[in-house]
Order: sequence, then structure tokens, then C-alpha cells
Amino acid sequence: MDAKFLEILVCPLCKGPLVYNKGAQELICKGDRLAYPIRDGIPMMLEGEARELAAEEEVK
Ligand SMILES: [Zn+2]
Repeated sequence: MDAKFLEILVCPLCKGPLVYNKGAQELICKGDRLAYPIRDGIPMMLEGEARELAAEEEVK
């Protein structure tokens, strides 16, 4: 995914920065501990689409 594209993406809840998890194809908000999925290269920036990170999942 385009790095510039990533720079403009923020968490829809807290407007904080997101971390791109390439392996999982997810965008992670550390503050909310939510992971937004990327499907076919398109980030699903909706709270309803996001999954909560499990406690043991390491947020890098
Ligand atoms: Zn957030």
C-alpha cells in the first residue's frame, strides 16, 4: 500500500495515528486497541469493521 496514503489515515474514533500491520493486513490504533482490516487494498475505516486486539497481542 502507498505510504502516502497511510499518512493521511487516522483512527476514526480518536483521530490518532495508525500502525500498518503488513502481515495481518490491518491498521492498528494503539490508543483504542482496535485493528481495522484492509480488504483488497482498501482500509475499512469503520468502527463496526474493526476488531478489538486481544490483551496478549503485541502492538508494535
Ligand atoms: Zn483510535
